[in-house]
Amino acid sequence: MLEEKIEKIKEDALAEIAAVESLAELNDLRIKFLGRKSEFTNILKSLKDLTEQERKIVGQIANATKIEVESVLAAKEKELKEKSFDFAAEKIDVTMPAKKLQRGHLHPLTKIQNELEDIFTSMGFEIADGPEVETEFYNFDALNIPKNHPARDKWDTFWLKNNKQQTTDDLPTGQAGKQQERILLRTHTSPVQIRFMQTHTPPFRIIAPGKCFRNEATDATHEHSFYQFEALMVGDDVNVGNFKFIAQEFFSKFFKKEINVRLRPSYFPFTEPSFEFDISCTVCGGEGCPSCKGGGWLEVGGAGMVNQAVFEAAGYPRGKYQGFAWGFGLERLLMMRNKINDIRLFHSGDKRFTDQF
Ligand SMILES: [Zn+2]
Repeated sequence: MLEEKIEKIKEDALAEIAAVESLAELNDLRIKFLGRKSEFTNILKSLKDLTEQERKIVGQIANATKIEVESVLAAKEKELKEKSFDFAAEKIDVTMPAKKLQRGHLHPLTKIQNELEDIFTSMGFEIADGPEVETEFYNFDALNIPKNHPARDKWDTFWLKNNKQQTTDDLPTGQAGKQQERILLRTHTSPVQIRFMQTHTPPFRIIAPGKCFRNEATDATHEHSFYQFEALMVGDDVNVGNFKFIAQEFFSKFFKKEINVRLRPSYFPFTEPSFEFDISCTVCGGEGCPSCKGGGWLEVGGAGMVNQAVFEAAGYPRGKYQGFAWGFGLERLLMMRNKINDIRLFHSGDKRFTDQF
């Protein structure tokens, strides 16, 4: 009887499925009982030889059996999968340090420039900007630098070829007035003072950070390209005391400690009076130590009261305004604070250096 055969197949299948212990064995059983060559499939194939009534009865039994065996197979498969899940292998150690991602960062000079701009703007200064390619007028003439000053020498300044000038050089005398002005790579940020004054009326206080160029051999303290910072404050009665206060405020904020400023008489064409200024040693505070060679002071730069000739060149009436101007190198400032002994490191492109900032 087909019904009995089917019943026997079902009993065998359920018993064997219950005893199985691996997914591979379970798959073998699936083929054995329900596969194309299984006894059960053969029975289904032989249904067509039965009478219609028999086919109906046996067909229903076979169908119900197939559904039952399949559901038992599925349940067993789920059970085996859960049992075989390897928790140890899948374990995640959430305390393990993450892989370090390589990220870019700002260059130390950009960082220090941002820092200085923050300090100065907090004291009411505006940020001014100017071109790196300048004319002789803005770089030298307007700043009261004499025509024969050694700074104009080709060994100190990068003069640029002005293509329009090449032909006018050969013009007969009398037409010399048509000559194009000579151009150069600015040797300091001071030309920005003139450009700003030409378009603004005092009172104002500005800073002008930027790149400068000098035609000179490089060594541990000299570079042909470097960054400068220019500060200019102009008004009706701006005086040396204002400069000293602003400078002390600035250096105290920059070095994050109380810094004193000392002025020594000096000479610059664009300021009168002019002075070199020192700051109290950032290491010993003025007591004297190897950093300041025992003197208690560190040389920082030059400053002075704007020469009236400079005001005149910028279009202001002589004697109407007073102001101070000072400049210093960004690299030098960072070298002082971070004990860097070679200015060439800044443009070396050496990541071992830049990554330390
Ligand atoms: Zn010292």
